[in-house]
Amino acid sequence: MKFVIIGGGPAGNQAATHAAMLGVEVTLIERDVIGGAANLWDCIPSKAMIATGGAMSYLRRIDGMGVVADEGALDLELIRQRIARIVGDLEHAKEKILQSQQVEVVRGTARMVDSHMVVASTADGERTFEADAILLSTGSRPRVPGWAALDGDRILATQDAYPPRVLPEHVVVIGSGVTGVEFVHLFRSLGCEVTLIVSRQQVLPQKDPEVAAVLEADFSVRGVHLLKGARAVGVDRTPEGVIVRCDDGRAVAGSHALLAIGSVPNSEGLGLGEAGVEMGAGGYVTINRHCQTNLPHIFAAGDLSGKLPLSSVASMQGRQVAEYVVRGHTASHRHPNYESAPSAIFTEPEIADVGLAEADAFAEGRKIRVTKVPFAASARALIDNDSRGFVKIITDPATGIVLGGSIVGRNASELISVLAVAVTGRLRVADIVESMLVHPTLGEALAEAAD
Ligand SMILES: Cc1cc2nc3c(=O)[nH]c(=O)nc-3n(C[C@H](O)[C@H](O)[C@H](O)COP(=O)(O)OP(=O)(O)OC[C@H]3O[C@@H](n4cnc5c(N)ncnc54)[C@H](O)[C@@H]3O)c2cc1C
Repeated sequence: MKFVIIGGGPAGNQAATHAAMLGVEVTLIERDVIGGAANLWDCIPSKAMIATGGAMSYLRRIDGMGVVADEGALDLELIRQRIARIVGDLEHAKEKILQSQQVEVVRGTARMVDSHMVVASTADGERTFEADAILLSTGSRPRVPGWAALDGDRILATQDAYPPRVLPEHVVVIGSGVTGVEFVHLFRSLGCEVTLIVSRQQVLPQKDPEVAAVLEADFSVRGVHLLKGARAVGVDRTPEGVIVRCDDGRAVAGSHALLAIGSVPNSEGLGLGEAGVEMGAGGYVTINRHCQTNLPHIFAAGDLSGKLPLSSVASMQGRQVAEYVVRGHTASHRHPNYESAPSAIFTEPEIADVGLAEADAFAEGRKIRVTKVPFAASARALIDNDSRGFVKIITDPATGIVLGGSIVGRNASELISVLAVAVTGRLRVADIVESMLVHPTLGEALAEAAD
């Protein structure tokens, strides 16, 4: 069995190591960095920048802890070097794992020439691979509308911001989804003036309004300007910076603009037509619940598949594709359950959720029990001088099974793991209550909310 994978992000990597572990001969073709855009452009550099912003915020906050600290000064070159080092270390670690599993790694750009043949253009010329199974995991890239001419200087995509050449005096962030609000938080923590263009009346329009309200309140306290109900339709360069024009006639001047309005799949040039693979709306590859395309031996996973654009989801899809390639559809094979995927927003406070949302349950007329505990009552939160936020757990009143939950607060992205295990494992609230948790920790709020 020969398994060829195009794209070495979370989906491709996980599929490669897992299939190799199960005894399959695997070739992984990557044109850029092993670890994918996730490591090079998305999850890792954005969180590294947020960590630097977090250190600055911490310096401001520790006043209240009896320490007198200076504001701290930023060195953009050191930030750049730190991010490059993290990305390099991660790539090195991933390469070693692939090597140890005898995965053949090919550096080059690949395309299918028919449904069983993949050609890679490498520095040493073209190489052809015959495959019994193929995984397409080429990811996505930021969406750039025709009305914004990115210049990498003043009009930025997220990829230009790790860090920008100069620290913006006033950055106008366009897009109030997860990526947009993370960049608002990031730039504000670094001391920049920030305006966020919000096309609806709520930031994070897909999220629980109560959760979004906490973030909006925090933005307001931190002096972030919100321009609500406005859709950006143009960005112009001016001698001093930029002007972002909105559809209702309003305009905002700033030193920089940053676009965070979603992504588009990397599906062109892949030979989908030559192989006979069907695409759906927006250029995403259509898959079934096993991540199979219309051709049973060709799979798609990760952002290219148009499911939840999360690194964790891409990895899980990749792993399950590997299982399916090796074992086929057996009783033990599980397909990805997108409903139990947790997600986090790395703002301050952090926001994380998993499973059923309260608003969705009400919309469906479903009976649920909701319990909520604020961190204001947590000893650990008080010790750490940050008691913002809450834990909310949603259960089935008949069985006590945990259906979902949201956490807003420090380390919410870590704490949600407990609820993710509970939702995936269909645990009861009693299982959380009866688990002894370390004291004093923020995690204790989970047990209290479950009680
Ligand atoms: C700013 C930002 C921050 C994010 N932060 C998070 C986060 O904190 N947590 C999270 O879970 N998700 C986050 N995401 C989403 C996450 O990055 C994606 O969901 C994830 O990268 C998808 O993984 P993937 O395997 O589909 O593809 P990718 O990571 O996009 O990797 C695809 C790889 O395929 C390669 N490739 C493409 N075409 C070819 C070809 N023809 N031949 C060879 N190689 C090819 C590319 O070079 C790339 O390395 C973030 C996204 C953005 C934009």
